[in-house]
Amino acid sequence: MVRETKLYDLLGVQPGASDSELKKAYRKLALSLHPDKNPEPAAADKFKEVSHAYEVLSDGEKRQLYDQYGEEGLSGGGPGGMGMDPQDLFSQLFGGGGGFFGGGGRGGRPQGPRKGKDLVHRIKVSLEDLYKGKTSKLALQKHVLCGKCKGKGGKEGAVKTCQSCRGQGVKIVLRQLGPMVQQIQQPCGDCNGEGEIINAKDRCKDCNGKKIVNERKVLEVFIDRGMKEGQTITFAGEADQSPGVEPGDVVIVIEEKPHDTFKRKGDDLIAEVEIDLLTALAGGSFVLRHLDERAIKMTVHPGEVIKPGSLKVIPEQGMPSHRHHEMGDLIVHINVKFPDSLDPAALEPLEHILPARPVLPTFGKDVHVDEVDMVDAADRRTKSGHGQGGAYDDDQMDTDDEGAGPQVQCNQQ
Ligand SMILES: [Zn+2]
Ligand SMILES: [Zn+2]
Repeated sequence: MVRETKLYDLLGVQPGASDSELKKAYRKLALSLHPDKNPEPAAADKFKEVSHAYEVLSDGEKRQLYDQYGEEGLSGGGPGGMGMDPQDLFSQLFGGGGGFFGGGGRGGRPQGPRKGKDLVHRIKVSLEDLYKGKTSKLALQKHVLCGKCKGKGGKEGAVKTCQSCRGQGVKIVLRQLGPMVQQIQQPCGDCNGEGEIINAKDRCKDCNGKKIVNERKVLEVFIDRGMKEGQTITFAGEADQSPGVEPGDVVIVIEEKPHDTFKRKGDDLIAEVEIDLLTALAGGSFVLRHLDERAIKMTVHPGEVIKPGSLKVIPEQGMPSHRHHEMGDLIVHINVKFPDSLDPAALEPLEHILPARPVLPTFGKDVHVDEVDMVDAADRRTKSGHGQGGAYDDDQMDTDDEGAGPQVQCNQQ
């Protein structure tokens, strides 16, 4: 099956040796040949050769290349092409700390078990629930290690490392492209890229050899009072399980649903309310349904006048702050609904109640005061070039930039 056995011979193992057999053999040889232990020059050379052999054979890709193509197949091709200083290899194997990585020049893999992907789930939460707090149940489908085979895929001993790819799940093939030889990595066909083979009859019946099964898991998500849009709740290690992988977290992201009455600004609430003209002028009450089981009643005292657009603050009727649950304020933006018309015969008392009309300004003799009619802007006749009739263009109503030169027309958003 293998083309050359030189590297195996150097380590004194069979070509089919497992990774641990290789490691054991190298460890034994390296300890006796290491220059610190064995000052003979011949030993130093042998140490280099043995280290090279181990470096190649402990790397699945390189070992595969060597098995298929001999030393010619190893990258670089040159006879002395050694990817790694034998001293480094030695200290990796025997020195404390860092794990043992066979592959030279690939920057190493991160230490510790691989961590699986986090599962991010957004939940829409009403402002009521953020105000009062809530526990909601979240059901999710996830992969868990099969309980029957304990994530092995089959009975003890039934799972065999794929010999064809040596458990790598991928094979390196060399392809001649004109003068160049290209290395291509492709999934191993013998094990479908799994790196392992389980005989059909030995496969775990529960997971069909897949090692994982689907499970419905219900998480209790505690939404604390005062939580905000974008805040997260993490369930550590609750994401999909997979053999040899530390499961990722389930991360719940709070999304605040828009509310019909209230807008939230930090811990304050802002509400738009509309009151009638009589209440605005002569006093009265209005109510607002709050976010819990209450309505709050606000009173305009007689003699106080509420102007359209007034802002009023009701202390501590806003949102609770997260963690400390200190209450923010409620800011009420009051609009006043004017009647559409009044009975002219009944207006006389207003003359006594409301402040007197202002006196009209007078002009010099050279100014002629023209009497004109007002029509509702909504009823304005269409002028040529102004599109459909109706109200003024918003752009033209805004004349904030006094005397700022010609108006720029193309500033629509
Ligand atoms: Zn199973
Ligand atoms: Zn394979």
